[in-house]
Amino acid sequence: MRVVTVGTGMAAAEFVERLRLEGFDGEIAMVGDEDFPPYSPCVIPFYLAGEPLETVFWKGRDFYERYRVTPLLGDPVTEVDRERRLVRTRDGRSERYDRLFLAPGARNRFPEPQWTTVAGVFGFKTLSDMMAIGEYVSREKCSEAVVYGGGFIGVDAALALMKLGLSVTIVHRNTRLLSQMTDEEGGAFATRKLVEKTGMVVRLRTRVEGITAGAGRLTGVNLTDGTRLETTLLIVAVGVDPNSELLDGLESGIPCDDGMLADPDIFTAGDVARTRHAVDGAPGIYANAPNAVAQAYVAARQLVRGEGSYAGSLNSTVLRKHIDFPVISMGRFDGEALTWQRGDVWRRVYLRDGRINGYIIIGDTRMSGYLHQLYVSRQLAEREIRDLLSSPRHDGYYRRALGLAPA
Ligand SMILES: Cc1cc2nc3c(=O)[nH]c(=O)nc-3n(C[C@H](O)[C@H](O)[C@H](O)COP(=O)(O)OP(=O)(O)OC[C@H]3O[C@@H](n4cnc5c(N)ncnc54)[C@H](O)[C@@H]3O)c2cc1C
Repeated sequence: MRVVTVGTGMAAAEFVERLRLEGFDGEIAMVGDEDFPPYSPCVIPFYLAGEPLETVFWKGRDFYERYRVTPLLGDPVTEVDRERRLVRTRDGRSERYDRLFLAPGARNRFPEPQWTTVAGVFGFKTLSDMMAIGEYVSREKCSEAVVYGGGFIGVDAALALMKLGLSVTIVHRNTRLLSQMTDEEGGAFATRKLVEKTGMVVRLRTRVEGITAGAGRLTGVNLTDGTRLETTLLIVAVGVDPNSELLDGLESGIPCDDGMLADPDIFTAGDVARTRHAVDGAPGIYANAPNAVAQAYVAARQLVRGEGSYAGSLNSTVLRKHIDFPVISMGRFDGEALTWQRGDVWRRVYLRDGRINGYIIIGDTRMSGYLHQLYVSRQLAEREIRDLLSSPRHDGYYRRALGLAPA
């Protein structure tokens, strides 16, 4: 049997590794648009911030040899021909498959396509992006940057650039940074603390409506509030779009069943796959590394053994990079809100019918594992959660379990 993967990202690497560990002995080809061993996008901002390149290759540089893979790199797939069971690439190659693993992830969204032709404007998505940004920063001796978009990726980008020594302004259309992974108050707290701790400048409730360039290089950005920022470096982090159009022109992700099958011969996983939420069942793209890995694992077991079922995705978001100030959230931010705050730590749990419906933990990670477990297990939590939430020692759960007095 010949297996072909579209993509060499986190889902595809996990899938291939699992195939071999499950005893799959057939031929495997991986088709990728970049020319690297599999890498983790979660780690590439650290590389930009100065960590060694080796650290991004999360399954080893020798991945293709170790798992007996034929790598077909630097040549994107442009078409999946289901009838003939082949994929076609930009450079005219045709690759036949018996089973396809379709995991091309998502691509950086640019408000205007022509922005990408201006030197100094970058997405923040791939290892190629990080290399290009790093080279540009040192060549042009950049000392400042504008990051457009203050979500998870935008903040990650801003912190990485600040680690490199640049001063950064984030332009964000919302009322607060990290607006998707926080509620209004939590996001306002995180924004205030991030500004205090790093000195980043944050321009909220405004957008970049245009860029200016001279001799093909960026000179500045114009904002919708009528002001202008002079800059030679703009990182665009206003969202991503799934690369799902490869399958029948689908625009909003590839639907699949619980065995991660999108078609009898095509598995999918990762940031392109439409799955359902493990707790509330809502369909959607739940783009994070743990979901991608779990989905790939199920797909590989299905292919080799015909067994296994995906338990659903979690919308957990953990921003814990570059500085010691984590922001963690999960679930839905509605229901009865219980809040506790002291110093740099802010915690909120949303209860619905006595169970955790969502939570936001800022400035500290120690409760998040326990909240995660309470949320996923759907245990009744209303009786203990007030005490636990307000335990400044962060060990209320363990003290209770050991029969000790609350701290
Ligand atoms: C900067 C950054 C930081 C992140 N940090 C975190 C984090 O801290 N925690 C977390 O959980 N998640 C994080 N994520 C998200 C996480 O990386 C993704 O959810 C995960 O990588 C999804 O795996 P994937 O295989 O679907 O996509 P990817 O890992 O992006 O892989 C997609 C692959 O497909 C290739 N490809 C695309 N189009 C084609 C084509 N037409 N033909 C061939 N190949 C193609 C790409 O080059 C790539 O190899 C981060 C993402 C980014 C960009």
